[in-house]
Amino acid sequence: MRGRCKQSPLNKKGYFYLLLMVVLCVMLVNCAGEDQPQAEGEKSELIQPAKWWEKLPRPIYATLEPVETSQKWFEVYRLIDNTYAIYEPYQFEEALSYLLVGSERAIVIDTGTGIGDLKQVVSELTDLPISVVNTHTHWDHIGNDYQFEEIACYNNADCIRRLQAGVGNAALQSSITGESLWKPLPEGFDPTTWSIPPMEPTHLLEDGALINLGDRTLEVIYTPGHSPGSICLLDRKNRILFTGDTFFPGPLYAHTEGVNIDHYMASIERLKSRLHEYDYLCAGHNDPWVKSSVIPRVADAFEEIMAGKGQYQEGDGIRRYYFEGFDILIRADMIKR
Ligand SMILES: [Zn+2]
Repeated sequence: MRGRCKQSPLNKKGYFYLLLMVVLCVMLVNCAGEDQPQAEGEKSELIQPAKWWEKLPRPIYATLEPVETSQKWFEVYRLIDNTYAIYEPYQFEEALSYLLVGSERAIVIDTGTGIGDLKQVVSELTDLPISVVNTHTHWDHIGNDYQFEEIACYNNADCIRRLQAGVGNAALQSSITGESLWKPLPEGFDPTTWSIPPMEPTHLLEDGALINLGDRTLEVIYTPGHSPGSICLLDRKNRILFTGDTFFPGPLYAHTEGVNIDHYMASIERLKSRLHEYDYLCAGHNDPWVKSSVIPRVADAFEEIMAGKGQYQEGDGIRRYYFEGFDILIRADMIKR
């Protein structure tokens, strides 16, 4: 082996450049990782089915109370008093943000893709000061953060780094081209200059922290797994849980870079152990009002997958497992045998 080393064409400088290239490649892979917009053509049918919008509207919306605003990019629904779901049905993510109005202040939980004018929507619903709380900092949850002065996220390095990095125009293009979009972009939106600007969090949240809005309080529940800094927010008084991407009724993203399956499963178990404290889930995508009884079934689903059971389709090493009311996307190599 030593002899072979001597014959290597690389001198010390060569090794340095090789090492540098490896480091750069690793950085590139990480940057293109979890929940970043994907280039057109890379989207698997398993992840984004063709003509996904033909299944809309989702049945739940006919049961909710619509609220008119001037911003037609969004559909707004009143879930309970002083609690609004702000939905983006025309873009594949079907992002959901929430406005919670208390007696003293209001918060927006996540700010969607950034395509529409979210600040205008919420300012038509409350006069109180509004700050942002991010369930995590993937691009489709922080798109309009920049419109607000106060931004909170979990005190986690990955979470903070994503917020500080923002997302450039080129990386966002696949989110508004091809079949990612099925209605025109809002008036005044310029796809050639659109970006998510780098931002600094103004507040860092810890597990168990209480966010006081006056007559209602939200508890931060740290639920890593989908991302290292994911949280859920419990409105105990109103018995609702804001889940971000930890749960939504669609294909849960457990396949992307940054996912930790053990942490994800432990977080779902944690939510299950607190099931007596909430009746409904307000999810980060698709459907803003889901019965909490789904949570134990998500726990069971992960267990089934890890035990080598469950129905799935596979493509490019990614499996989509099918369950009632949700699916799970996971890489085949993440499954313990
Ligand atoms: Zn996410």
